[in-house]
Amino acid sequence: MERVNLSRELLHAPEVSRELKEHYGIDITRCYQCGKCSAGCPVSFAMDYMPRQIIRLLQLGMKEQALRSKTIWLCAFCDTCSTRCPREVDIHGVMEILRLEAKARGYITHKHNNIFHGIFLQLVKRLGRVHEGGLIVLFNFLSLQPFKDVLYGLPLFLKGKLHILPELVRDRGEVKKIFKRARSEGGVSK
Ligand code: SF4
Ligand code: SF4
Repeated sequence: MERVNLSRELLHAPEVSRELKEHYGIDITRCYQCGKCSAGCPVSFAMDYMPRQIIRLLQLGMKEQALRSKTIWLCAFCDTCSTRCPREVDIHGVMEILRLEAKARGYITHKHNNIFHGIFLQLVKRLGRVHEGGLIVLFNFLSLQPFKDVLYGLPLFLKGKLHILPELVRDRGEVKKIFKRARSEGGVSK
């Protein structure tokens, strides 16, 4: 088995670390693998690499493996990881950067991931926040499985957890401006 000198690898931070630092101000070399991010991640049970492992892959210059992981598509952008990180590593930001690059390179582990991602962003752009009911209906319709969540949706609706009409944020124009700016800087997929 090949031995890796982690201290040396981190000291001579590979290209990917430099890119993240220079373009996005994210310093992944600060991560000391405490695992707090992964412990708090609500979807880690379904990931192939824990959030801390994604950071480790990048620290070691193994970006290709990170780009091809299921993890980056499963991330729900809840920001728990970044909030918990004692070293202030923006893991949530890393996930989005990787997802956009994976998409640009055509590394989409499942076509449904791409559909979900697109609908999610469109809803946020148009409404200012995600409308869960609309997300479920649109996703199931576009992924050709219209009745997939009927059994779950009805009880949620009856308990008032799912709303038919979306709630709108007050100034949606501001949200659109954020999207416009992010896109002009290459940060939001079409
Ligand atoms: S919480 Fe921060 S320091 Fe700890 S493993 Fe995650 S990224 Fe690294
Ligand atoms: S932002 Fe993504 S990786 Fe971080 S805790 Fe939430 S789901 Fe997990």
